[in-house]
Amino acid sequence: MKIVHLATEFAPFAKAGGLGEVLVGLSRELARLSHRVEVVLPKYSFIPPIGLHPSLSFLCEEGGHFHENRAWQGYFGQCHLTLLEAFHPKGYFQRPHIYGYQDDTSRFLYFTKAALEWLKTAKESIDVLHLHDWPVAVAAYLQKESYRLPIKKVILTIHNGEYQGLCAHWDLEAIGLQSGTYPKEAFQDEIHTETLNLLKGGVVYADAVNTVSPSYAAEIIAQKGKGIAFARYQHKISGILNGIDSVLWNPSDDPHLSIHYQQGSIEEIERGKEGARHLLAKHFGLSEEKRPWIGNITRLVPQKGPELIEAGLCKTLELGGTFLLLGSSPIASIQNHFETLKKELFTESAFFHFDYNEPLAHQIYAALDFILVPSHFEPCGLTQLIAMRYGTIPIVRKTGGLQDTVFDIENNKKGNGIVFEKATQEETTRAIERAFLLFQTQREKRRELIQRGMRIDFSWKKPAQEYLKIYG
Ligand code: ADP
Repeated sequence: MKIVHLATEFAPFAKAGGLGEVLVGLSRELARLSHRVEVVLPKYSFIPPIGLHPSLSFLCEEGGHFHENRAWQGYFGQCHLTLLEAFHPKGYFQRPHIYGYQDDTSRFLYFTKAALEWLKTAKESIDVLHLHDWPVAVAAYLQKESYRLPIKKVILTIHNGEYQGLCAHWDLEAIGLQSGTYPKEAFQDEIHTETLNLLKGGVVYADAVNTVSPSYAAEIIAQKGKGIAFARYQHKISGILNGIDSVLWNPSDDPHLSIHYQQGSIEEIERGKEGARHLLAKHFGLSEEKRPWIGNITRLVPQKGPELIEAGLCKTLELGGTFLLLGSSPIASIQNHFETLKKELFTESAFFHFDYNEPLAHQIYAALDFILVPSHFEPCGLTQLIAMRYGTIPIVRKTGGLQDTVFDIENNKKGNGIVFEKATQEETTRAIERAFLLFQTQREKRRELIQRGMRIDFSWKKPAQEYLKIYG
């Protein structure tokens, strides 16, 4: 099959969160199965052109003006990469970050249209055009009703249904979709009816839609009072659990770890984790004695439960453990709050690092005893999966993909973590207390959990088969 992904992230060189990793893991596995996989994404100026060569140039119209674009091509393993460089007067992709700009809608609508122009120029038959999230969702409509390229199927994956790409009719006009030429209901937000919803347009026009876990698919279908009534489209919505890329995340040859370890001997695993703790403790002045080490690696946004993370952090310190937090917030009030917390609490047992730092993330996954993921909702969640691969026991709230991957040790034979039901501070701190109890009084059970987590196959093998089924 020839499969083309349209996306705004690709790890490691353009990653803001889970999406970039999913793109790598899924593409790599599909390519391994001998499918021809191409990933098309913007050529952000922060991506060095190493291993890329310039290929065709082509024009793309926006608001009556034609802008030049150049395709850069290369390979990532067996995956074919096409990065589109836009010579746009507003420097759409000449910026330090992927998202967070006022004109994000215009930037990604332009990219989506340019990607279709590129596919038109490339003149190749495609089995599947696979779209990821709201930034490129309009491609479903453009392909079906305007471009009509030789593409058999259009698939839309919703990595996070909270972000729907709300915009105005003039945003679509800029890429040539005049009001009255497309059915307004297909793009009309169901709450703010004067507003257009790009993700909804994608859901309406894609042949199949999926989210990244079965539980989250059920949750969005049951949701009421949101911009998209997913229940109306449930006949074409499914849930496919994400995997994690076993090359990016592999404690047995992770370049960021001082001591490598793998599933097998618990002594070897414990030595590896101790090595990671030792490295961090030495570097950041942390206590190796104050155990357990509990932590979180996250974007500090309301979805992730920053108030619950804070409750877990305070409880950990109160009980004599160490807490490590890697991540920052795009929301000033949350960021300021955590900076104040850092000033108040920063000691040898409370570590805060407000940055995006890939090597440090690897070291923290290995060093932790437990990872706390108390999300209010979670489409899939990768941190609990990565943590288990590194021998770290997850403490999660029962929602979405967390619910599909972590099972409580008390209630379940396949128990692999600590699960709590309600997103409250009481339940979060109770879960931390349970973690302490496990750590301090049940050594063998804890060792068995570490091994069990590391044995689970979270690779892309199974998810890729499920995608192939919806690709048809
Ligand atoms: P989301 O996509 O909602 O942010 P996921 O759990 O699906 O959450 O994926 C988060 C990914 O981003 C994980 O790979 C995690 O390790 C990584 N990540 C999050 N914050 C940071 C950070 N501050 N530094 C490094 N990696 C981070």
